Amino acid sequence: MARRIMIAGNWKMHLTVEQSLELARRVAQGLDRQDVEVLVAPTFPALYPVAQALGGTPVLLAAQNLFWEPEGAYTGEVSAPLIKAAGASHVILGHSERRQYFGETEASVNRRLRAALEAGLIPILCIGETLEQREQNQTEDVLESQLAGALAGLQAKELGGLILAYEPVWAIGTGRTASQEQANQAHAHIRGWLARRFGDELAQGTRILYGGSVKPDNARGLLGQPEVDGALVGGAALKAESFLGIIAAA
Ligand code: PEP
Repeated sequence: MARRIMIAGNWKMHLTVEQSLELARRVAQGLDRQDVEVLVAPTFPALYPVAQALGGTPVLLAAQNLFWEPEGAYTGEVSAPLIKAAGASHVILGHSERRQYFGETEASVNRRLRAALEAGLIPILCIGETLEQREQNQTEDVLESQLAGALAGLQAKELGGLILAYEPVWAIGTGRTASQEQANQAHAHIRGWLARRFGDELAQGTRILYGGSVKPDNARGLLGQPEVDGALVGGAALKAESFLGIIAAA
């Protein structure tokens, strides 16, 4: 089954609203590939203005996180229906920075993921091992337990649009990329787990993005791997030239 390549930019806690609008417009204007799905994930304040600016373009929009309750007295939180109403179609969940700095657990990622699906947002679920776990040959076990935790209690029929991102923690923002073989091997393992847990159809239809120091000069090799269906890009997504360079390499 052919899976459409996705190049997603995670802007993290960068860029003012003005800067976000400028970058979003430059990405949309520079985009000349219809065969690649392109997505950007700005900060919460920039979500609605960027949605307005991207209206009528093929560039998709994601939030970087959500809170699982639909509404209520939860000061400082943003719910899935609010994100959807702001114009986003996707949401990044379980990013390693959320796990590392904000106490995100498998159980909390699972609640967020269910809330996203309930609201009609497509989750981009991030998983990945630390350097220590890789060095102790625990990569596959870690990936399996992160998948099992985040997807607990869900059925294949609920997960049709799910996107996964394999992001080895040691490669995020470090300039150190997984080799093409390491990425392909991890993706193949993830797909194998999906097939065993949810069946072949879901496994073959689910896109697995690679994330971790993807740049224009290493994108072609990574994206050329049969199990790699796109990239989740951090640092290199903050400049239109480098983000468009990665898209061109896809
Ligand atoms: C990320 O934050 O998801 C990421 C992959 O960052 P970077 O590309 O900067 O390593």
